[in-house]
Amino acid sequence: MLSILVAAVNILTVLDKIDPERLQATVEKLASFHTRNTFSPTLNDAADWLAGEYRKIPGVQVELMTYTPPKGRRIPEEKEVVQVVATLTGEDDRALIVGGHIDSLNLQGGIDGRAPGANDDASGTALALEVARAMAGRKWKHTLKFVGWTGEEQGLHGSRAMAKKARAEGWKIDAVLSNDTVGSSSNRNGQKDDKRVRVFSEASDSHRSRELARFIAWLVREDKFGVKLVFRKDRFGRGGDHSPFNDEGFSAVRFVEVHEEYTRQHTEDDLPEHMDFSFLANVAGVNLRVLSALANAGAPPSDVEIDRRQGHDTTIKWVAVLGTEYMVYWRETTSPTWQSSRKVGAVSQTTIEKVNKDDHVFAVGAVGGIPVEAK
Ligand SMILES: [Zn+2]
Repeated sequence: MLSILVAAVNILTVLDKIDPERLQATVEKLASFHTRNTFSPTLNDAADWLAGEYRKIPGVQVELMTYTPPKGRRIPEEKEVVQVVATLTGEDDRALIVGGHIDSLNLQGGIDGRAPGANDDASGTALALEVARAMAGRKWKHTLKFVGWTGEEQGLHGSRAMAKKARAEGWKIDAVLSNDTVGSSSNRNGQKDDKRVRVFSEASDSHRSRELARFIAWLVREDKFGVKLVFRKDRFGRGGDHSPFNDEGFSAVRFVEVHEEYTRQHTEDDLPEHMDFSFLANVAGVNLRVLSALANAGAPPSDVEIDRRQGHDTTIKWVAVLGTEYMVYWRETTSPTWQSSRKVGAVSQTTIEKVNKDDHVFAVGAVGGIPVEAK
């Protein structure tokens, strides 16, 4: 009981640390670079500045990762590019990634045109930095990586380089949260939603990205600021830095505001003055809540199975890790999100009475971890 209380207080004090004014200051600084186009010299200045901010956070190690995107669309020459990867090392090597893309684009003006990219995507870049500040200085079971990707606007090159490296080196990534265009609650069409952020996950119902999205919705289900799940890999005809990670077999989702203003994207009018920094702080709060849960979660159960015998109750069994506490979740087959959950403790079997296996989907997860569907 005490440990639950301590954990709850831990999350609350961490959530308190998101500062809208600091988010605004970071966005304004990033937008003040003439452009952060991946192939402009000022991209390096912006990446250096961001790396410097991460270095000020106690316990964070900063790497300027390099990669070379292939010549092609919006890429005039083959050239080495940098991106920022800041790591808060945990007790083990399981990892969680949160990030935004540093690079900006002026579609009409070319590489040298003014491209403030305040919302797209200084917002996500600032969010990751602020979440790092909030999470530093305490112990987490798993390792946290805060990333400023680059090459996004030319075709997700930085995130793809990182995802391929992670696959090749066998990184154990539990979740990737990409935040791209998360700093405005309204558009010029008179539409506004300052109570939710969209979360895009892979279209397949059985993809782990979808389980991550469902878990996020369950975590924030009673919060004042919530999520709107969209079961598509991204917006129509668009892409984001979560996708390369899903392509490499990891679980990734994309956060994006509900009402985008398309006329400002990739123009010199993507400015801080059009943003809503309390909205951005709320999106940062959701990321922080998700990461705080996942960063201390036990290992997921394996071989999660439903007892096939007929009956009015449903019994589920799994292979447990000693000492790990579990939660059972269930929903109607037509419900996109978990409708009920129960903490069942450090066991490897449980029976949910009067909920039948014919009409429901069940899952089991370590407390704070992404559930695994029972088969
Ligand atoms: Zn973007």
